[in-house]
Amino acid sequence: MNNRIKLTLTSDQLPWELVQRVCDNLLVKEASLTKLDQAIGDGDHGLNISRGCRAILANREELDSDNYSSGIIRIGELLVNNMGGASGALYGTLFMKMGKELSSCESINDIIKSLHVGVNAVMKLGKSQVGDKTLLDVLVPVLEKLNSANWDLAQIIKIAYDASNNTIPVQAKRGRAALLGERSKNHMDPGACSCAIIIVAICEYLIGEQKNE
Ligand code: ADP
Ligand code: MG
Repeated sequence: MNNRIKLTLTSDQLPWELVQRVCDNLLVKEASLTKLDQAIGDGDHGLNISRGCRAILANREELDSDNYSSGIIRIGELLVNNMGGASGALYGTLFMKMGKELSSCESINDIIKSLHVGVNAVMKLGKSQVGDKTLLDVLVPVLEKLNSANWDLAQIIKIAYDASNNTIPVQAKRGRAALLGERSKNHMDPGACSCAIIIVAICEYLIGEQKNE
């Protein structure tokens, strides 16, 4: 547990700067997410992600006044309603479940607990688990590290990057890529890539906040 992060999360409001950073970092990667999905899927992951981000950015006024719980629930709803693709339902569920779990957000531990609930919901909806070459291959190792006694944000960033790279040699067992069998090997999973971008953006925001203290 990192006590300095605890301080940055005590504000009631979901920080718009954080939301904006995550969306900006995803939007600049639209073309590379498209390319990854063209290799082992149907090529729409970049478009789906950018549709989701644009829906979030278009709702700034509403999200700006939300607390963590209602803001994260609303983000999930916007993703379910606007993204499309399997990832729209999966990311949407992740955020909706996390937001519902976050009745209070007093420390980073509350976020970690809610992430646990969200990840379980994604597994249930996708009938998938870690090792299937999906976004869970990034979420699960990140969650494991967050649940350990010692971690810092730089380590979480490295785990997210490494986990997305580790999907490259894996044969997909879920999603469209699974239809390719052996041919799904040697490509990074697009959902694992977008998930790493989200986690890295959140960590970078929190690192910046610590420096500003
Ligand atoms: P679609 O596959 O419907 O075209 P996207 O291209 O937006 O949707 O998203 C594909 C990503 O969604 C995959 O790279 C993978 O990470 C994730 N995904 C797909 N199916 C599942 C599943 N059953 N469980 C978990 N994640 C999945
Ligand atoms: Mg696709």
